[in-house]
Amino acid sequence: MQEQQVRQQIVDAAHLLADSGMLFRGEHANLSARLDDSHIVMTRGGSIGNLHSEDLAVLDLTGQLTPGEVMDPSMQEVIQMHTRVYQVRGSIGAVVHTHAPHITVFAIAHQPIPLVYEPLLRYGVTEPVPVVPWAPRGSDQSVAAIVDVVRNHPGLPAVIMANHGVLVFHQDPMSTARLLATLDEAAELILQAQTLGGAQELPSAAIDAVRERMAAYGSRR
Ligand SMILES: [Zn+2]
Repeated sequence: MQEQQVRQQIVDAAHLLADSGMLFRGEHANLSARLDDSHIVMTRGGSIGNLHSEDLAVLDLTGQLTPGEVMDPSMQEVIQMHTRVYQVRGSIGAVVHTHAPHITVFAIAHQPIPLVYEPLLRYGVTEPVPVVPWAPRGSDQSVAAIVDVVRNHPGLPAVIMANHGVLVFHQDPMSTARLLATLDEAAELILQAQTLGGAQELPSAAIDAVRERMAAYGSRR
């Protein structure tokens, strides 16, 4: 993949996040995408409301910026939150962090998002999206808790960060942005279902049934 293509994919994903209301009012977010086996492209600043392809930096998976690249200190603080995910799960092509409005309600309440919304299954989600304990953003403690989920739960492409927001990781920038929006839909629906007695579980056979139909139709989402 050419670097310019990757940059454009990140910009397109950022616009989708903005257009679908996934940035909340502060527009704080960070996005990255895999460039090759040892490099990623990542947002340089903390607000992505009007992102352009030159607002991105190339760094290696140890977190070292390519010489000549600059990045806001607030972004340098969270580099490991991205690079470690790529290191631990080789299939990951993009990582996105936002304070999506409904998922963040669950983050504030320390509540996992249960698997009650079929569209999530089509992104490979096979268990409730957990909340990892609060620690300062980008700290070793915070990153270790995220990495533990990435390493030990292959059926999870997202974690909720307690009292903060969400981190989502999937194949490419657009699929990751869409997954984030779908998870936020689930969160919104679960909150609204409280007025009708609460969300109901999917049947236990749902994961296999959806997987079989996707294989039969050759479809993804
Ligand atoms: Zn944040």
